[in-house]
Amino acid sequence: MADKKHTIPLEGVLSSNSNDWDSAKSTHFESGRNINQVKVHGLREKIQARRKSLNDSLEGEVRAFLINEDELHTYDDLTKVNPVTPTTVLNCLQARYRARVFYTHAGCTLVALNPFHPVPQLYSLDVMKEYHTAPKPQEFKPHIFIVAEAAYRNVQGQVEPTNQSLVVSGESGAGKTWTSRCLMKYYATVAASSQTCQDTVERIEKRVLDSNPIMEAFGNACTLRNSNSSRFGKYIQLQLNRSQLLVGASVQTYLLEKTRVAFQAANERNFHIFYQMMKWATEQQRQEWKMPHDQRFNWLPNVDRILEEDCFEETLEAMDHLGINSDKQALIFRILAGILHLGNVAFNPPTDESQPCDLEEESKVFLRTTAELLGIPVEELQSCLRVRALKAGRQSTLLKPCSRAECSVRRDCLAKVIYAQLFDWMVSFINKSMCADNSNWCNFIGLLDVYGFECFQKNNLEQLCINYANEKLQQHFVGHYLKAQQEEYVAEGLEWSFVQYQDNQRCLDLIEGSPTSVFSLLNEVCRLNRASDTKQFMVRLEKELSSNDQMSWDKVSPQPHFIVSHYAGKVSYQIEGMMEKNKDPVPPELIRLLQQSEDPLMHSLFADTDAEGEAARGHNKVVTVVSKFKNSLESLMKILHSTTPHYTRCIKPNPDCRPLTFKKEEVITQLEACGIVETINISAAGFPIRIPYASFLQRYGLITHTRTPAQLTNQNGFESGDKDSLGSAVMDVLRVVLRGHSPDPQLLSATATHSS
Ligand code: ATP
Ligand code: MG
Repeated sequence: MADKKHTIPLEGVLSSNSNDWDSAKSTHFESGRNINQVKVHGLREKIQARRKSLNDSLEGEVRAFLINEDELHTYDDLTKVNPVTPTTVLNCLQARYRARVFYTHAGCTLVALNPFHPVPQLYSLDVMKEYHTAPKPQEFKPHIFIVAEAAYRNVQGQVEPTNQSLVVSGESGAGKTWTSRCLMKYYATVAASSQTCQDTVERIEKRVLDSNPIMEAFGNACTLRNSNSSRFGKYIQLQLNRSQLLVGASVQTYLLEKTRVAFQAANERNFHIFYQMMKWATEQQRQEWKMPHDQRFNWLPNVDRILEEDCFEETLEAMDHLGINSDKQALIFRILAGILHLGNVAFNPPTDESQPCDLEEESKVFLRTTAELLGIPVEELQSCLRVRALKAGRQSTLLKPCSRAECSVRRDCLAKVIYAQLFDWMVSFINKSMCADNSNWCNFIGLLDVYGFECFQKNNLEQLCINYANEKLQQHFVGHYLKAQQEEYVAEGLEWSFVQYQDNQRCLDLIEGSPTSVFSLLNEVCRLNRASDTKQFMVRLEKELSSNDQMSWDKVSPQPHFIVSHYAGKVSYQIEGMMEKNKDPVPPELIRLLQQSEDPLMHSLFADTDAEGEAARGHNKVVTVVSKFKNSLESLMKILHSTTPHYTRCIKPNPDCRPLTFKKEEVITQLEACGIVETINISAAGFPIRIPYASFLQRYGLITHTRTPAQLTNQNGFESGDKDSLGSAVMDVLRVVLRGHSPDPQLLSATATHSS
């Protein structure tokens, strides 16, 4: 075996006290994990039988002994915790958190506990350099920089350069975005030492880092779970040239939560950018945007709450650096101000039902200001919001007044479509500004920061999409990791047997499979576009998917809900509203109105939009929300499959974002949701700790009576070419252990003395 493998952590467990032997032996040879560390041909059955009886008897005191409570915080890798149970893993993480240790390896993943407290010394330039320049950073304390550095070194690849992906997951507030930023800073630092192109590199690094405050201002919001919650998914590729220098970046975003523009749940906020404008606008800007200090906006709740995220200056500076000049900025902010005014337009039921809804005087003023700021004619805006155009035959159009509720839906729809388009425009502008010419870069490191698994009281299409994305990532993780392990075992000629792991293919089939799945039925029902969509969808789900054991019906809820058994737990999804969310229709007259805008930015946002195509959402296979999301996720998965992945699981230690507070019940749920115990078991089921034969013998060989310590520890006797004699000596040791004989205490004592 290669020398890069880890050593068994016997320190502190195997002492010279022979009474400890049974437990130590159990820990390291029979726990069902570590026994696989060395080739044990022919002994597998015996081992398994003993493993079972050991597991059966591992209760109470023995179990407690296996984990030394006082030393829990010293376990840098959770695969070394024994036995691996949710409780032991939890206790270990808690002990480390108490000791202010926030990172822990879990086999092939890194667990990052959120301190909710600044720890600048952990991320200083010096620390970055230390990890970057160390010959073996993996031997340092667990840190996100180990993952960063491993990916950076891996890019060069042993055979050929390989692109890398760093997948950061976790629930809202766990620290994904914080970690991604930290990784970006790391690369901007360590991949920027070129003398020759210092100027360019410096500028590009700055631009790459500056994409964060802009995207966060426009795409993050304060929610009940996190005051800086990302309301979109993000995959950023850091482009490296042949000399491994950062020369550019490109970013892909997923599923912006645009409903937030027009609806904020109680105690939540709209996107940060609106608050930044409201708080920090100059007097001149206030006049331009018609936003006096005392103006209240319906879509700007909790405006008095001060957040550090409301830093307008930082957003503006970042925009400057990325080439969004002050003229463009002015256009952007006018549009945003227009959206805020639109939110204050309220409709009253008409006195005469054949007429459109009434607008009170105040609403008329807001409507006029909206039209002015968006550069569109006010009469047409008013008409589009209150009157629906229905096609009657090929040529003619029927005009029908909308109900009060329909008017509000159209108003919200207008705001959402503008904001989403503006967000996309911003992302593509950022990309143009950061992206290197194809000829200038050859490899990339991708950082994936996506929303974690969600299970709220009410779950709808958004949660279904998010949880589907998490299923995909989990499948990728398990698939990739197992595959990598198997390849290694084949290369080493080892026998192996994996623990059972949860294969979530059946759940994915239920959601996205063909010919029949939740997504396919949803799209079909949306395409038919009947008034009874909800009922139709329910009937079809019941008829065509009820036999699927991954799906069940929520019998408790008064409204129809179906339950999906995700790898991270069961989630009940509300059917009501799902069709409309999937169609996400935009009335064509609204698009045409925006296309007429005199505002150059607004005009360009919609210049290429096909108004009829937007209206046809739901009729057309490709454009429903789930089809679009599925397609973008499939592209992402293709990229991930083509890269070497590295996983980081962020954990939120308490629900209130309180500094240095560890709530067990909060953490255990997340450990379960990200399948951490399973991950550790997968890591441990194979060969979690790999010891070169010679080291193994040097350490434990003395327990056999067949060889003297001198013989066994003499490296010359076991040179690499002499694998067979090494192997048989290892087997001798294992046989003694497996026969269950306690070794000679004197010999044991000699082993301990020797190893110390
Ligand atoms: P969401 O899914 O809602 O976007 P998230 O996982 O991206 O959540 P972050 O916004 O990254 O969560 O983190 C929430 C907060 O936790 C940060 O604003 C920061 O205050 C704190 N935080 C996260 N990681 C760290 C860290 N390593 N050190 C100090 N504070 C941290
Ligand atoms: Mg985030």
